[in-house]
Amino acid sequence: MSFDSINPATDERVASFPETRPDEIEAALARATQAAGAWRVQSARERGALLHKVGTILRGGRDRYADIITLEVGKPVTEARAEIEKCAWACDYYAEHGERLLGDEPAGIAEADTRVAFLPLGVILAIMPWNFPFWQVFRFATAALIAGNAALLKHAANVPQCALAIAGVFHEAGAPEGLFQTLLVRAPAVARLIDDARIHAVTLTGSEAAGRAVAAAAGRALKKTVLELGGSDAFIVLADADLDRAAEAAVASRYQNAGQSCIAAKRLILVESVAEPFLERLTRRVKDLKVGDPRDPDVVMGPLARRDLRQALHEQVSDALSRGATARLGCQIPDGPGNYYPPSILDHVRAGMRAYGEELFGPVATILRARDSEHALALANDNRYGLGASLWTGDARRGAALARRLESGSSFVNTVVKSDPRLPFGGVKASGYGRELGLYGVREFTNIKTLWVA
Ligand code: NDP
Repeated sequence: MSFDSINPATDERVASFPETRPDEIEAALARATQAAGAWRVQSARERGALLHKVGTILRGGRDRYADIITLEVGKPVTEARAEIEKCAWACDYYAEHGERLLGDEPAGIAEADTRVAFLPLGVILAIMPWNFPFWQVFRFATAALIAGNAALLKHAANVPQCALAIAGVFHEAGAPEGLFQTLLVRAPAVARLIDDARIHAVTLTGSEAAGRAVAAAAGRALKKTVLELGGSDAFIVLADADLDRAAEAAVASRYQNAGQSCIAAKRLILVESVAEPFLERLTRRVKDLKVGDPRDPDVVMGPLARRDLRQALHEQVSDALSRGATARLGCQIPDGPGNYYPPSILDHVRAGMRAYGEELFGPVATILRARDSEHALALANDNRYGLGASLWTGDARRGAALARRLESGSSFVNTVVKSDPRLPFGGVKASGYGRELGLYGVREFTNIKTLWVA
């Protein structure tokens, strides 16, 4: 079976790539094992030198890589360029800080030289999604590689060109053969890989369903997993919030990448007294979003990445509309080629509708109304997911206190949720477990080893 590159803006199949054969997988595993053995004895500084080169290559080829993202995912080209820049930033960050993040920690026990060392695990299998086809991979790979591991990438089936280009970046940077490899394989091959003794741990970014399948396979094989799954993040607007700033931020967060972001502000929870003035501001801005050909630098929203994703989104919207929600804006599939869906606002969403509890992976803001801040918090936490949440208030101190009570891996006050190489990123509840990025992300794929020298 082949892997097809389909342009979601036109429905055209633009390229096709053969699946990695079993003998090629076998050879890749052997190379990865060898590379991991040599890489683990290098210092963090030496590993960092490679990451610096990778970052330089990404910056130098930014527009070329961004064009591949735009072609396969439909992401507006300016966003795709920013994605490549962010990958380069992560490379530089870990190159510069790897030594500090991975240095031994003295345990401070008086009777002996005791310390904790952070040693690599080996070969890590990474199963990655299409929505940020470079960033999701680099978010994992920079941390895993600086920690001394080798990586095997199984990317999403709809982004084979991105998958191959990323492996090409490492090759061009002079990475040891086998240190970072791409396999074009489908889900059934993943279970076999997880079972293979030469794979030491697994990370997945994707849907809850994929997370359950991967965690089950890893559980059977007794291998560590990090799971970055979906989110249905709350964006809470309290009565004293700066409504203009909040509306501006909500648009940026909800409609970026046509809404296909795990940490997008998906559920806008508005305290009743400011709901209408906020919605007026929001609606005005959303109407102004320029939708169209993602190659046009003025376009801020392109198509959804796949036809089936648009269909699934519209079914969730239709269910809500049939149960009493209202389409304040959009909410209809347009005619014409490509997987376009209009920037939409779905008002009066309530418990009992699919849109209340499920993740909407597309450009639809769901509006929930709350009586007061306590009710807003209760609505935010009444959800199976817990990735990131943001809260808007004129009282930052109170906001910080409320933010601690949100059931989420991160909470941002008066700004949007974002990932940052300097800070841990991950979720609670059905959003997964484990952390990427920052000190905790770097140490996820290490053997946290106690050393006691008497
Ligand atoms: P999937 O979870 O199906 O895909 C993500 C990755 O997991 C892909 O590489 C996919 O491979 C792989 N995968 C899927 N099922 C399995 C399995 N059983 N065993 C091993 N690997 C598997 O996401 P979709 O593309 O279907 O997107 C749909 C939903 O996923 C969205 O609506 C959203 O909720 C969520 N999602 C969340 C993301 C996030 O950032 N948290 C990112 C992308 C999606 P393949 O492509 O070959 O199926």
